[in-house]
Amino acid sequence: MPLLGVHAPNGCGVSYCGQAFSVVALEDAADWYLLRQTSALAAIGSAWLAMTSPARSYDVVVIGGGHNGLTCAAYLGMAGLRVKIFERRGIVGGAAVTEEFYPGFRNSIAAYTVSLLHPKIIADLAQNFLPTLHGDYLLIGEGDAKNQVARFGRADGERYEAFTRQLDASADLLRELALQTPPNLRRGWSIGTAGQILKAGRLGNRLRRLSTENLRTLFELFTKSAGDYLDGWFEGDLVKALFGFDAIVGNYASPYTPGTAYVLLHHAFGEVNGKKRVWGHAIGGMGAITQAMARAAAGYGVEVENGRACGLELEDGRAVRAGAVAANIDPKLLYTAMIPHGALDAGFLRRMRAWRCGSGTFRINVALSKLPSFTALPGRDLAPHHSAGIILGPSLTHMDRAYCDARLFGWSREPIIEMVIPSTLDHTLAPRGAHVASLFCQHVAPQLPDGSWDHHRERVADLMIETVDRYAPGFKASLIGRQALSPLDLERTFGLSGGDIFHGALSLDQLFWARPALGYADYRGPLKGLYHCGSGAHPGGGVTGVPGHNAARVIVADRRWRRWLG
Ligand SMILES: Cc1cc2nc3c(=O)[nH]c(=O)nc-3n(C[C@H](O)[C@H](O)[C@H](O)COP(=O)(O)OP(=O)(O)OC[C@H]3O[C@@H](n4cnc5c(N)ncnc54)[C@H](O)[C@@H]3O)c2cc1C
Repeated sequence: MPLLGVHAPNGCGVSYCGQAFSVVALEDAADWYLLRQTSALAAIGSAWLAMTSPARSYDVVVIGGGHNGLTCAAYLGMAGLRVKIFERRGIVGGAAVTEEFYPGFRNSIAAYTVSLLHPKIIADLAQNFLPTLHGDYLLIGEGDAKNQVARFGRADGERYEAFTRQLDASADLLRELALQTPPNLRRGWSIGTAGQILKAGRLGNRLRRLSTENLRTLFELFTKSAGDYLDGWFEGDLVKALFGFDAIVGNYASPYTPGTAYVLLHHAFGEVNGKKRVWGHAIGGMGAITQAMARAAAGYGVEVENGRACGLELEDGRAVRAGAVAANIDPKLLYTAMIPHGALDAGFLRRMRAWRCGSGTFRINVALSKLPSFTALPGRDLAPHHSAGIILGPSLTHMDRAYCDARLFGWSREPIIEMVIPSTLDHTLAPRGAHVASLFCQHVAPQLPDGSWDHHRERVADLMIETVDRYAPGFKASLIGRQALSPLDLERTFGLSGGDIFHGALSLDQLFWARPALGYADYRGPLKGLYHCGSGAHPGGGVTGVPGHNAARVIVADRRWRRWLG
């Protein structure tokens, strides 16, 4: 992912208390009732309970204060609704937060780069750096990419622009579709069904307007493996690895697994300041963005405290009533742990149990005494490649092997790591002269074949650090402190089932009108009044705010209808 520096407003005027909810309250067809399921929290660890206000009723309550919950709440508040967010942790932002992970060192401890949001850019350093162990490297900067790629083969250099042009054309369409509610495929006839057919027709018409070449590309990106797709374009290992990495980020799969080309496309549909396929660093970390969202939501009267769904029951037994419930948590957690199973259709529940979660991601935050010096490009003085997305994973074969290894042993002996050093762009994160780095490590098993992540976390963290040290000798010695987050820790800390960074795999069976399930792609859940506003809904994961935005639009429209129908 090429990196830019992005400025996001700081500070937060919202008062909230990290308060946990335990179950979605339900209505049967005629009446509203509350039901308690005490085991709900067990799945995601302990919670901090604090009773601060008497039970009140709201138009909408939002379960989870992730960036999508905040976005949804802000739009609902803007529409004049009384909204309250219930967040389990002591901080809002979900996986997009800035926290002190070691005394004096702050970082975006989970998500670390932003693309689809549009904050103001203050530094322009779009780069990717792919070093090898043999002294060679690919350094991609804006405007120079074609020449850099051509260093490894003239033909690749010539194809680079055609490749990115085609990728951009598909990404443009995806960007357009992201803000639309997908057609909801359901049996039977009603006014609603006619609307869905019209919507599907409009989509077909939109596809018809694409050139045959773009349509072919789109089809290939949705169906092929990234490896097969990239092998068809390029010869050089490093250029294939550059794009191949985006296909396996948060996607526990070999780059040669069919469907991985879509994940490459998913990572290409963002933009920063009009620059497509570019990723940015938020000054102040990802938390600066989500705290600004919380402030915006508070500005519209949204309260933050931490089916027919008519409210919540908190772990302390308090009931909170509301006209609707918007769930920012992932569908597996929502349906298998938080709603009484008897309230759900057995087929639907079976599908939600089989919802594929587990992105195979391991995250480390490190405090460093100095910048790394790479064998491929030596030097500890700040240079452009230090501000790049540094990808350690020099070929698709390497990535394929990493996946196979992880399937067999639980983690790869030669892992794939993206390292980002945000303190090269943002001096507020670390003491003067020191640095923080995010290590985003791919291909560890969400559940280990043998033992618990609690027993293997530190060993795997050591392996990741040693891997960086092989590319940048002295890295290990420069370590002052570290925070390691295994898939189990991501689940416990952020409530992400299986540690899945996207709230569910971005595979064809879990995308668009099948996200989170056929018949429920319009942000409405199977219980009246229950909505999906998190990354488990279209268009999926990443710090986009789009599911929250789209869900708010549906909730507001439903309320208008209800009022109109009396
Ligand atoms: C390690 C990691 C790295 C990533 N890197 C990037 C990146 O660089 N760029 C990018 O764009 N995306 C990245 N992502 C993906 C992105 O962060 C997520 O897809 C996105 O943040 C999800 O947002 P959300 O609002 O839908 O859900 P979440 O952020 O998951 O928010 C859900 C909220 O619900 C809360 N919750 C859970 N259970 C309960 C409960 N019982 N009661 C109340 N609240 C509850 C959680 O605490 C959380 O605050 C990364 C994710 C991870 C984990």
